[in-house]
Amino acid sequence: MPSLSPRIRVRRFLLAALVAGCGGGSPSDQPRSLAPRAHEDGPRDTAAMAMMDGQGDVPASARPAVPDAHLGQWLLMTNHNHSGYLDGRKTLTTMMQAARNAGLDAMSLTDHNTMKGTQSPEFQNPGDLVMIRGMEWGALREQGETVLGHACLLGLEGDQPIETHFSLDQMLTEATERKATIVINHPFARNNQWLQPDPDPRAHAVEVWNHWWALVSPVIHNNEALAWWNKALARGQRLTAFGGTDNHGHFYDEIDKPTNMVLAARRDSAAMQAAIRRGHVSVLASARAARPVLEVDADGDGHFEALQGDDLPLSGRLARLKVRIRVQGGKGLTALLISKRGVLTRRRLEQADAELLLDVAARTSDEGFLRVELRKHPDRWWSMTALTNPVYLR
Ligand SMILES: [Zn+2]
Ligand SMILES: [Zn+2]
Repeated sequence: MPSLSPRIRVRRFLLAALVAGCGGGSPSDQPRSLAPRAHEDGPRDTAAMAMMDGQGDVPASARPAVPDAHLGQWLLMTNHNHSGYLDGRKTLTTMMQAARNAGLDAMSLTDHNTMKGTQSPEFQNPGDLVMIRGMEWGALREQGETVLGHACLLGLEGDQPIETHFSLDQMLTEATERKATIVINHPFARNNQWLQPDPDPRAHAVEVWNHWWALVSPVIHNNEALAWWNKALARGQRLTAFGGTDNHGHFYDEIDKPTNMVLAARRDSAAMQAAIRRGHVSVLASARAARPVLEVDADGDGHFEALQGDDLPLSGRLARLKVRIRVQGGKGLTALLISKRGVLTRRRLEQADAELLLDVAARTSDEGFLRVELRKHPDRWWSMTALTNPVYLR
């Protein structure tokens, strides 16, 4: 391992020590991971890893064009925020201003096991920011119980939090009844992992990107969450990949790392949740990082009818698809087109604003889905800059 600057060494130590599971649970002898460890490509260049996180110089106001056959606007959303109403270190007002300063449109508030902050005057009068009410549920482990797993419950109806003595199953049942958009949080985080072999079908999304992509790797294991999600997609499950800052107001937390780019029909909480469930989402390293959009034209008429998150019916036949990948601010990055079979093709982006047109022969049983990752180094998992949700081949 190359020698690190003292600053990076300090940051890594603090991240490992302080970010370890956002519930701060007691040490556990539970297995850290139920999934096989994701493939790693060679030794980690830790200093470079640090620089990968949140890179980019795209103006926050620049947004990709609205895709064919879809209405609305791309909005930038920060998710999974803890405010001073319970366990955060910054006031909600400060965090909301930070979101505006970063150029974000929307913010969810997800304090641990409380909805108190959502009833506050500042939450109720957010000005130009779309506020999404929610809580982060986590079981309180008493008397040796091993109920693990956190979830962001967005748009949860009612003001009472869901009980902390519930099992995962009870929580999911009540969250569903109260119409929450359910996000499985950091499924491989040490001491707060989900002890389920596969993502629960009642969940709408999974936080594949918690905090800074690679720097939290020793405790959060984003790459394993990504592999878990990819496996679920390969089985045909519909599940949105989503990002969460897990912002507790620590000095190393930032309101926009990562940022979700959501194609919402309207600028309000309900429309954003509908788009999240629909999978019209890309996850970006930050509000300034490159922005990919994936579309597919199945009949060659030049009209890209399927956007990331959409179902594309192929009726079992081998189809010749036109795939369009548009990227804002991606110069020097490599776009990888990924299916159930792995990486189908990779292209280096030579321009700041790029449009790739690819011919792809695909069959539902072979490819299953198509999705895009943007990486600085195509073979280095830690150099992730952004990812799209899949077009589901049906
Ligand atoms: Zn958590
Ligand atoms: Zn959290």
